Order: sequence, then C-alpha cells, then structure tokens
Amino acid sequence: MSAAGGAEPGQRAVPFYCPFCGDEDLRPHEEGHGTWLCSACRRAFSLKFLGLVFPEQSARRTTPEEAR
Ligand SMILES: [Zn+2]
Repeated sequence: MSAAGGAEPGQRAVPFYCPFCGDEDLRPHEEGHGTWLCSACRRAFSLKFLGLVFPEQSARRTTPEEAR
C-alpha cells in the first residue's frame, strides 16, 4: 500500500501479451495514451480501462424465469 498517489487511475494498464498473436514483445506506441505496438505482428492497439466489474451479489437467488 503506497500513499504516494502520483499515478493517474486507469492509465496504468500494461498488457503482458499481445491480444492478437500472444507475443510478449510489446512496447508503448506513440499514438496516445494506452496504445501499444506488438513487435511481432506489428499490430497497434489501445487499452482502455473501463472500470471495475464485480459479479452481481444477489441476496436471493433469482431465476431467469419468473415463478408466476
Ligand atoms: Zn502481436
């Protein structure tokens, strides 16, 4: 837990593998924030952090089909 809050939230997403070819040789692309270039397949792509998604925790178990 670091108290130093210098990083912008949502801008620190770093891909470890290329989503297209699975190669690990990714480097930051100059097109903008969150853009990456795969050196293996030469694909440039962008990552965008959309938010945190948690599974719906329903107290009751709800069935898709209604009882009545
Ligand atoms: Zn690739």
